[in-house]
Amino acid sequence: MSKDEGSLRLEDQGRKLIVAIDGPAGAGKSTIARHLAQHFGLLNLETGAMYRAFALKALRAGLPLNQSAALEKLAAETTLRLEPGEENNCVLLDDEDVTGLIRSQMVTDGASKVSVFPAIRAWMVRMQQELGASGGVVMEGRDIGTVVFPHAEVKIFLDAAPEVRGMRRFDQIVPKTSVQPEEVIRDLRERDLRDRNRADSPLKPAPDSVLLDSTHMTLEETVAAAESIVAAKLHQPAYRS
Ligand code: C5P
Repeated sequence: MSKDEGSLRLEDQGRKLIVAIDGPAGAGKSTIARHLAQHFGLLNLETGAMYRAFALKALRAGLPLNQSAALEKLAAETTLRLEPGEENNCVLLDDEDVTGLIRSQMVTDGASKVSVFPAIRAWMVRMQQELGASGGVVMEGRDIGTVVFPHAEVKIFLDAAPEVRGMRRFDQIVPKTSVQPEEVIRDLRERDLRDRNRADSPLKPAPDSVLLDSTHMTLEETVAAAESIVAAKLHQPAYRS
């Protein structure tokens, strides 16, 4: 961080910035959010992990993921906690640390299915608003700039072509023995379709978000672009000490 930016760190000024990062699967939201949080001294909150943890509970209970009433009842008996860490968030489902169990394809798919239901979304949004209430956070998901924090000071909508996102996801999968890139791209498109077309809080850029398309950008370039978007906000008079 440059000396100038260092002097603008929010925690030094007691400012309570909220940075909302939304976008489709595989756009690089988690990586960018982590970098921004470290760079600007903010807490990093991954809301997708909450939907994933709840999907895990529903799968374990053997519930069909298309039954709103049963899912709602399950939600009423569930406690979820998201704890920001240096690298990743830790997710506690009914006090059990499930962080290592929510990245499988089955849970990924399940999260996308349970997240279409308004009652589940309303419950998640309430928890997320509480988590970010005091500000000083980077929160990433699908509806942060549109629903969770419509007044967030910085909104970034991170996107990339589906094939590029799919290949980035494929590159992260280890071992690759039973997966083909085409399958990863197909799953990602299915999830996109569900996220963009659900009636409640569909994935879309907030009107006042900055669009960042990383299709032709390296990770370093994308991180640098995201940093400048936040830094530009911090240099505005309201944020200068
Ligand atoms: O971001 P991540 O891939 O972990 O999210 C898993 C799923 O949870 C997404 O596919 C999406 O359907 C849902 N989600 C959501 N709203 C959020 C975060 C995630 O609907 N704010």
